[in-house]
Amino acid sequence: AEPKPFLLAAEGLNKSFQGFRAIKDLSFYLDKGELRTVIGPNGAGKTTFLDLITGRTKPDTGTMQFENRDILPMNEYEIYRLGIGRKFQTPTVYTDHTVYENLVLSLEGSRGVWRSLFSKVKPSEKDRIFEILNIIKLKDSAQRKAGELAHGQKQWLEIGMLLAQNAKLLLVDEPAAGMTDEETHRTGELLLSLAGEHTIVVIEHDMTFVRQIAKDRRVTVLHQGTVLCEGAVDFVQNDERVIEVYLGR
Ligand code: ADP
Repeated sequence: AEPKPFLLAAEGLNKSFQGFRAIKDLSFYLDKGELRTVIGPNGAGKTTFLDLITGRTKPDTGTMQFENRDILPMNEYEIYRLGIGRKFQTPTVYTDHTVYENLVLSLEGSRGVWRSLFSKVKPSEKDRIFEILNIIKLKDSAQRKAGELAHGQKQWLEIGMLLAQNAKLLLVDEPAAGMTDEETHRTGELLLSLAGEHTIVVIEHDMTFVRQIAKDRRVTVLHQGTVLCEGAVDFVQNDERVIEVYLGR
């Protein structure tokens, strides 16, 4: 078959848990450089979908290609090594280490083969870390313990850790959860600044935030394990079926 031009192409995914169909005939196509927001009510299958992409969960049926490679036979670590990084809703930074050290520990190849803080950081890696500190606006906090950061700063550090991993595809689960309005807005600016060079999938509930990052970009609405509607944020927000699943029960 002709290779597809998508960065990620998932087709006909199905996943049941004890007979309950959490993912149903789900297909999803992502172009390189996209910033895609995925919304949907609780239980829509958003987390399970991310689990399928990262190999944490394997589908019962379907196909999944990343850069034209079939990733379903791969384990979580192999998929991670291809450049798929995930940020969970709750920040999981190394609280006793500094911001700088957290980034060192996240450098590509660090997982599995444990990256020691005592192993030499190459000048090019150091440059990259300072570039990331600038991007995530934590340069002034480089020597602070990650555990002392404000909640929003921890989330930004985690996004920085995905960059240090050299992730091509960033899967970001509710980055604005628990943030102040100001932090939420800054998170949106950060994701917008990364789009294009990186490909990002954001799961989000906060519609103000969705509007900020989606603008005229594509938004995917999941419902009962499948894509209910896809399109610009104004389009999906005015779709009768979307209004019904959000308000009609
Ligand atoms: P969302 O992230 O959109 O809230 P989830 O992907 O977490 O949705 O869940 C989709 C559905 O699948 C839910 O009804 C959930 O209870 C069910 N589910 C998810 N994971 C499991 C599991 N490991 N075992 C049983 N049911 C699960």
